[in-house]
Amino acid sequence: MSKPKEYSSMTKDKLMTYTFIALLVLAIVSAVMWSSVTEPSGWNLGLSVAIISVIAVGISVGVDALLYKLTADSPLNTMSAAVFGLIVALSYSLGSPLMGQTEGSAVASSMLEPPSAFIYVALISLIGLVLFKKLLGKKVNPAAAAKFIVLLPFVSTVLLAKEHFADYMSGGLGVPKLAGPIGGGMEAINNNGLASFGTYLQQCYSFPDPTAMTYPDVNNIMMLEKYHGWVGGASSLAVIIVGVALFIVARRYIKWRITLTYFVSIAIMSVIMSTVYADADLITRLVFEVFIGSSIFLGFFMATDPATTPITYTGQIIFGVGLGVLTVLIQTYMNFFGGSILALIIMNLAVAKLDQVGKLKPTTDTKEPKLPKAKAFPAEKVKEYGCMKCGACMRVCCHNLSPILIKQAFDKQDFDALVKLHADYCTGCGHCTFICPSRIDLRKSVLQAKGALRGQ
Ligand code: SF4
Ligand code: SF4
Repeated sequence: MSKPKEYSSMTKDKLMTYTFIALLVLAIVSAVMWSSVTEPSGWNLGLSVAIISVIAVGISVGVDALLYKLTADSPLNTMSAAVFGLIVALSYSLGSPLMGQTEGSAVASSMLEPPSAFIYVALISLIGLVLFKKLLGKKVNPAAAAKFIVLLPFVSTVLLAKEHFADYMSGGLGVPKLAGPIGGGMEAINNNGLASFGTYLQQCYSFPDPTAMTYPDVNNIMMLEKYHGWVGGASSLAVIIVGVALFIVARRYIKWRITLTYFVSIAIMSVIMSTVYADADLITRLVFEVFIGSSIFLGFFMATDPATTPITYTGQIIFGVGLGVLTVLIQTYMNFFGGSILALIIMNLAVAKLDQVGKLKPTTDTKEPKLPKAKAFPAEKVKEYGCMKCGACMRVCCHNLSPILIKQAFDKQDFDALVKLHADYCTGCGHCTFICPSRIDLRKSVLQAKGALRGQ
């Protein structure tokens, strides 16, 4: 038997398993919370949450395994596929009885309610996994991009539903626009000449049976229990607790700075908008922007996807700020309340540029990074995965090098890049290999790159 190898205890599989457990907890919370509601189609809302979760995970894991069997270059990533599947399910909206009855659009109702919703979730899972995870190489968040593409033909009924903003007299819902003053009152006619925003939040997001509506406090709805929005955002409090717990467990590998800067920018933008439009009630705008289902779930579980977000800390902060500012602007000026998903896709496209910002300056001086405890793994159990772009290797290099970028440049035999990245400063400490959750032998690649540079 070969000698055990020492690494940090975190592996890519473990990270994916923790993320899957966190998402599963949220799926269970949403299913239990919504289990007392029956859709007009007769489907129980809690059961529907369970069914779309099983469909999305089943298709993602199944297709991942099939591609692994049928193609030579598609690795088997079961846990990663399962995580993707749950994100697809939790970022879908099943609507509610109120939504289905009053949306005024047969298309919207049929898309959002079971059993048609099952087909759309299956389609998003399939397109996301094959097109955005495998074929296009994770340039944009696969769940966000696939959902956007599938929903695009319904842009005027689901994404930018016109009837939201038409007044009651012409058969609309009378939802006040964010590009105007909003208030938290219960008056039917107020602000923007339509219903007050607080009324809208209560009618759409509180218990979905209009006859049983008790008009609880709007802040409680947005924070504790809301309907009609994304499945994963049913309880903002649950998302925060589960998300923060995951960040603590995997703090070296999860890009929590994006989440933090995203929500801080949304809060600042809400204050700015509130001032510009002289809101009667700043808190209503703030709770809507921060706790709307798409925003709270996306901020914790989609905006931090390592593969489609910047690798440097500065890049992550700019990404989070851009995401927050764009989300508020899209929601305010395009009347697209799920604006964060479009904002995420736009910011994903800027990641290649943001990866160049904030790289540490390589140095010949030696620094001693704080490393996690070592754990011995039998050599035959050490499995190498593709880089997940967590950036951990860049944070532990004694000479501020970027081991993964050096490896990529070396694999391409790009010697100009190797010179710029100062591969020759490497002293072979091995911290980068030790910390890597994908078990990539970075030390070996960087030393080979250094040797190749010397031979030039
Ligand atoms: S082996 Fe080289 S690249 Fe890796 S951490 Fe040590 S000095 Fe940096
Ligand atoms: S190579 Fe670096 S960025 Fe890639 S997974 Fe390993 S530690 Fe993370």
